[in-house]
Amino acid sequence: MKYIASTMLIFLLILSSCSIHSMETISKRTEIGNSQEWTYTGSTGPNNWGNLKEEYAMCSKGKEQSPINIVSRTQKSLPLGINYHSGKFKIEIKKTTIKLIPENNTNTINIQGTNYELKQLHFHTPSEHLINGHQSDMEIHFVHEDRNHSYAVIGIFVDKGTQNKVFQKIVNTLKEDKSLKETISLNIQSFIPVNSKKISYNGSLTTPPCTEGLKWIVFEKPIQFSNQQIAFYRKYSYPTNRPVQPLNNRTLFESW
Ligand SMILES: [Zn+2]
Repeated sequence: MKYIASTMLIFLLILSSCSIHSMETISKRTEIGNSQEWTYTGSTGPNNWGNLKEEYAMCSKGKEQSPINIVSRTQKSLPLGINYHSGKFKIEIKKTTIKLIPENNTNTINIQGTNYELKQLHFHTPSEHLINGHQSDMEIHFVHEDRNHSYAVIGIFVDKGTQNKVFQKIVNTLKEDKSLKETISLNIQSFIPVNSKKISYNGSLTTPPCTEGLKWIVFEKPIQFSNQQIAFYRKYSYPTNRPVQPLNNRTLFESW
C-alpha cells in the first residue's frame, strides 16, 4: 500500500510538473501570438519578424527571401506579356502601404504561357530591391495570382523626376478623402516603363509571413514621380522597406 501511495505521489508530481511546463509554454506562445503587429522600425521591425509569430518563421528561416540587391545576372529570354488597361480601382489605406484593388480581373500578365490575374498593387518607400546597391525613392509591387494560386510580382522602381499623371489621380483622391469609398478609374499601364530590361528570380513576400515560392520580375528602368508626389506619399508611411536578404544559391536572370 505504502509502495502504491509513493508511486502515485511520484506520478502526480511528474504530471503536475508537466502541466506547469505546458501551461508555461502555452502562455509564452499566447504572449508572442498576442504581441504587437509587425512594423518597419523598432523591436517589431524586420530583424525580429521571424520571432513575432510562429506563422512568420519563414522571415528568419527562409533561404529564398525578398527583396535582394541585384548584382550579377545570367541572360535568359523571358516571354512576358502585360495586359493592363484602364479600369476601376478601390483605394485602401493600410498602416504600412496604400493598396489599389482592381474592381474586376481583367488586368493580366502572361509568363511563359501561364496567365496571372492582377490582385492588387501597392507601394514601398524607399525601394526594397536595390540594383548594384542603388536604392530608388519608391517601388511599386503588382501582385498577381494564377489559377493554381501561385504568385508573380512585378516590381517597378520610382525615382524623382517629372510628375506622373496617374499617380496624381491617386494623390488627389487621397487629398479629397471623402471619395475613398468610391472606385477611381486608372490606367496602370503608365506605371510600366517602356524598353526596360527585366530581372527575374525566385523569392518571397517582402512582408510577414514572408511566404516563398513567388516569381519576381523587377524592371531595371525606373519610372518617375515628382518630388511633391513622393513627399506626399511619405506622409502616410515611411520608411516601408524590408532590408535586402541573402541571395544564397539563387540565380538572377536578365531579359529584355
Ligand atoms: Zn510589396
